[in-house]
Amino acid sequence: MTYMTNKTITDPCDLSFLNVFEELESSVRTYCRKFPVKFTKARNATLWDDTGKSYLDFLSCAGALNYGHNHPVLKSVLIDYLQSDGVTTSLDMHTSAKADFLETFNRQILRPRGLKYKIQFTGPTGTNAIEAALKVARKATGRSNVVAFTNGFHGMTLGSLALTANGEDRKSGGTGLSDTVRMPYYDYFGEGVDTVTYLDKIISDPAGGIDKPAAIVLETVQGEGGLNVASRRWLRDLSNFAKRENILLIVDEVQTGCGRTGSFFSFERASLEPDLVCLSKSIGGFGLPMAIVLIKSDLDTQNPGEHSGTFRGNNLAFICARHALDFWNDAAFVNHLENNIQILKDKLDHIARTHAQHGLLVKGLGLMKGVDVHDPLLARRIQNDMFAQGVILETCGPKNQIIKIMPPLTIEDDDLVRGLDILEQVITAQLRDMEKG
Ligand SMILES: *Cc1c(COP(=O)(O)O)cnc(C)c1O
Repeated sequence: MTYMTNKTITDPCDLSFLNVFEELESSVRTYCRKFPVKFTKARNATLWDDTGKSYLDFLSCAGALNYGHNHPVLKSVLIDYLQSDGVTTSLDMHTSAKADFLETFNRQILRPRGLKYKIQFTGPTGTNAIEAALKVARKATGRSNVVAFTNGFHGMTLGSLALTANGEDRKSGGTGLSDTVRMPYYDYFGEGVDTVTYLDKIISDPAGGIDKPAAIVLETVQGEGGLNVASRRWLRDLSNFAKRENILLIVDEVQTGCGRTGSFFSFERASLEPDLVCLSKSIGGFGLPMAIVLIKSDLDTQNPGEHSGTFRGNNLAFICARHALDFWNDAAFVNHLENNIQILKDKLDHIARTHAQHGLLVKGLGLMKGVDVHDPLLARRIQNDMFAQGVILETCGPKNQIIKIMPPLTIEDDDLVRGLDILEQVITAQLRDMEKG
């Protein structure tokens, strides 16, 4: 994430219509500075601005739109539900929309994977799910310290921010961020250094100087932190260590979940059984706010109301979430996703091979992948050129030096190919300019 002022906008568009935002909206806004147009309409992977210009969406609202904009099935169940005066918001009261979601989530997602969890509905943001999971872990273990990793991102409220690694993000808290200890992620020192052995040794050593943690929190693929993919082996070793030491494993699936890495949960590839799992972003299906925490039942020890929140009952999200879960039983949806993953992988590998002399690095997994161009300025130029050519994408990594590609899972393959062809042209042109100096 970057924090820019207006001065850094290098877009050729006429910005005069932005006056209302300039005048009235807080300076904290960020994405709009990189994509300074006014969007009015969207369908699947296409956005339109108020001049009718179309854009390919390789950002998907940071992973909140895995099923694309205005998915026709979800839109129609939503309209029907509204037409029938369905309950829209309900605190944590019982509603038929929630019952239907719970039943479907269990039948469609948990049971086929041999998973058994209690489900906590939290306030409808990723960071709220993380805060709730921390409370559960701390209460269940009676310990306060929590392990988080280098380059991890877990949200912007104080508990989650304490887990987040990025220095700019941490500074934004403006106060102490406590009760966490930082450990090196999978290949932080390069693949030659086994970071789990280090973590195991120093935490299990009674004189290692680290207070016994309640939990270890991690993303199996780091979204904001640079598309770092932990190996299966590392994930399993970490999980075994946690089990042995009676430390809870919290997997943050806020960005990786709902199929972003290819399977519904990103931890499936390592056959993990986390104690707690946080989901938000795409769980609501239609881009509607919703978040849940999956809790192993023996850890479900909170008193009624111990973690509350007015907007835990977004029934419009429950309805869409429930119907989006059906997609995971639809062979056409799953095959289409696998095909898109292959297209993305092949193209990024091709781009990296073509420009091998620049050491471009392909990163990430599934439909959250990217190219590390090693230079934040170059990455920024590529992002700007992509936008000028009608493709919206973000950068990520500690210096924002990685071009991140995160289209809807449902993107049409010719749209995906078209956007990636533009990416290849833009990277080629930028590298050529750079060589010329
Ligand atoms: C986006 C994100 C969060 C925070 O979610 P919000 O809805 O922005 O609070 C937490 N963890 C990860 C991995 C994320 O990508």
